[in-house]
Amino acid sequence: MSEVVKPIAEFDYDLFVIGAGSGGVRLARMSAATGARVAVAEERYLGGTCVNVGCVPKKLFVYASHVAEELEDGGGFGWSNKGDLSFDWPTLIKNKNAEIERLNGIYQSLLTSSGAHIIDGRAKITGPHTVQVADKTYTAKRIVVATGSWPNNPSFPGAEFVATSNEFFFLDQLPTRAIVLGGGYIAIELAGIMAGLGVDTTLVYRGDLLLRGFDDGVRHFVMQEVQKKGVKLKLGDNIASIEKAESGFHVTFDSGNNAETDLVLSAIGRKALTHGLGLEKQGVALRANGSIIVDQHYQTNVPSIYAIGDVIGGLQLTPVALAEGMYLSRFFFNPEALIPVDYTNIPTAVFCQPNIGTVGLTEAQAQREFGAIQVYESSFKPMKHTLSGRDERSLMKLIVDAATDKIVGVHMVGPDAGEILQGLAIAIKAGATKRVFDQTIGIHPTAAEEFVTMRVPRD
Ligand code: FAD
Ligand code: NDP
Repeated sequence: MSEVVKPIAEFDYDLFVIGAGSGGVRLARMSAATGARVAVAEERYLGGTCVNVGCVPKKLFVYASHVAEELEDGGGFGWSNKGDLSFDWPTLIKNKNAEIERLNGIYQSLLTSSGAHIIDGRAKITGPHTVQVADKTYTAKRIVVATGSWPNNPSFPGAEFVATSNEFFFLDQLPTRAIVLGGGYIAIELAGIMAGLGVDTTLVYRGDLLLRGFDDGVRHFVMQEVQKKGVKLKLGDNIASIEKAESGFHVTFDSGNNAETDLVLSAIGRKALTHGLGLEKQGVALRANGSIIVDQHYQTNVPSIYAIGDVIGGLQLTPVALAEGMYLSRFFFNPEALIPVDYTNIPTAVFCQPNIGTVGLTEAQAQREFGAIQVYESSFKPMKHTLSGRDERSLMKLIVDAATDKIVGVHMVGPDAGEILQGLAIAIKAGATKRVFDQTIGIHPTAAEEFVTMRVPRD
């Protein structure tokens, strides 16, 4: 019998993914599961930002910070707590770290069981089909950059003293006083966590209204609510400089005001992590801010190099990176199942306290796009707080295109807004009209039923 000579593969791998974060892991494991030869290089932590220093620890800390409030609220329901109540930050950090190690292990087994090779270390692209990790060079038919993003650094004198979200989740001690810089997702979420844990927290924002891009009604409402939870707002101001003080830091603001604090936490946006990847040398086109320019198939101008997730400069959200990873895996290895990523009506939540959940257009955007709109709005005290006595309110808003009756925006501030909005996002995606909402029977007694019982548009 003559020996069958197997052709020597042209490349070591069909696909080489750089970065095992949200997008990279999804792409690598779905691709390897089709039988493709896949490698994924990771220099820091499996699971990327979301699992290690993002969504997951953040949400765990939000739970932690809410406990004191729950205990306080119990009073109105007949509970009393005369014991010695205390909070131990190192316990939270230790338990969070253990949970994240568990998740790291799950990511490792998801990758290896799918058949993907994990390569530890920092990857650099050295040619259109070559990637170098440490002293080894690998060849691949396609290279996908999924390296995520990194916090922007402020540039004022003393900027070296600021912490970012990267450090926040590992602080040795919970500060007594903290100043949080920024008015976006991270600043408002982390300020809420610290205030809930009893830290004297001031959020400094250069504008007048936090959370640019969100519905103005939501922005005003949230600013009132977070202040009720103890977050002090310093608006229309910025940090001018930071100096080391005897204990903590001395912060000077543009306004000339000063403050002493134990922690300055900067959350002023995140930039694409492309530095040192060798992209410029390969001629990959980048924007001025370093993010990678891709086409509708996430292909760069160098045909064998692709990019997904935060690094391409779109919406920096885990489900977006996951969807892009999924798309690219199908594009490469299962094109019959290809579904384009639909960037319209992406729902999002901000885990400030109370939460924000939102999908679709803001009132101002809808007004610009459709002219005639109807706005249904309800603000109320959640049932729980009738007995707890807490001064907390919820807001719900539906925005309707008057010509078609279609719901074009849904916004909520209140407990579990993210959970509630996920289901409504499906309705919006399916093109639900106000009439469909009106025909939907509510679930009683819930806050969410308000979305199907609002009947009179706001003037
Ligand atoms: P990442 O998850 O960042 O993964 C990139 C990976 O590439 C990293 O593991 C990195 O170490 C690795 N890497 C980089 N360069 C190299 C290299 N040269 N060689 C090898 N490996 C490399 N999104 C939400 O949807 N919901 C949330 O609640 C939420 N909360 C967040 C809270 C915080 C504090 C932060 C910072 C972000 C949060 N996000 C949230 C955003 C979310 O984490 C990101 O959008 C998401 O992780 C992006 O996924 P990615 O795959 O693009 O990149
Ligand atoms: P954001 O882009 O959300 O907000 C950045 C904030 O910093 C804005 O308020 C901005 O002000 C302000 N800012 C920018 N530059 C400066 C400066 N030089 N000095 C002072 N203030 C400045 O970024 P984040 O860092 O909060 O978060 C990054 C991204 O991570 C988010 O956009 C989001 O996509 C993702 N994320 C998602 C979460 C979720 O889904 N729940 C949670 C956390 C993060 P201005 O508005 O005036 O420009």
